[in-house]
Amino acid sequence: MSLHQTENTEQCLSVGLMGGTFDPIHLGHLLTAEEVRIQFGLEQVIFVPAGHPPHKNSRRISDQEHRYLMTVMATITNPYFSVSRFELERPPDRVSYTIDTVRYFYAIFGGKCKLYFISGADAILEILTWKDYRELLSICSFIAVTRPGYGLDKLTETFAVSCPEALPGIHILEIPAVAISSTLIRRRVAEGKSIKYMAPELVAQYIIKSGLYCSRDEDAV
Ligand code: NAP
Repeated sequence: MSLHQTENTEQCLSVGLMGGTFDPIHLGHLLTAEEVRIQFGLEQVIFVPAGHPPHKNSRRISDQEHRYLMTVMATITNPYFSVSRFELERPPDRVSYTIDTVRYFYAIFGGKCKLYFISGADAILEILTWKDYRELLSICSFIAVTRPGYGLDKLTETFAVSCPEALPGIHILEIPAVAISSTLIRRRVAEGKSIKYMAPELVAQYIIKSGLYCSRDEDAV
């Protein structure tokens, strides 16, 4: 879906912003977005592939157009899902901060709409180090998605100690299928193993055709 379709502001009550690197997008992300959409009664979920995320210097991230295309292919059959190029169209030398993204969507949807930022619990655990986090917490709620076995207490304790006023705006959701991870997929491709049923078929084929993740250096620190 185009950004213009994404940004139809009519009749919007609740919108999810699914933030992530999506390198690559996989079935765990899709199941998560659908589960969140249903549980939180969202009108739509906008996938926002990260442009130049902060704290991401340890691994070379795939070209943003590859990540964008895979995200579009993965989401195209769900009428409630769309993909935004907002972070990808920022200047290449500019880090993309979540506050800029959320401000952008807040300006579009305004007070008519409740915004939820959905991402991995590991990422959300770090919010208190993010740029303008207090403003961020005041204009949107967060849904921290965890894999089975993740210590949920860590997240609640961190906020209870450092920013208790933020706790009502932080939701935690355990999604068993998030046991699939982008790291696992990249590793399996590098080892020549199948990724069938981990990512949508089109995405799996795109990865092979584009030669993505062939090198083990992808995850080098
Ligand atoms: P990450 O370190 O790549 O991911 C952290 C963990 O969360 C990984 O296990 C990852 O699994 C999982 N994850 C990431 N996105 C997810 C999603 N939408 N749903 C479920 N699990 C997800 O984190 P990241 O992707 O770089 O960052 C996540 C988001 O936070 C991005 O939108 C990024 O821009 C934002 N962020 C903002 C700031 C800031 O503004 N200062 C700082 C850091 C991150 P997979 O690898 O399988 O996805």
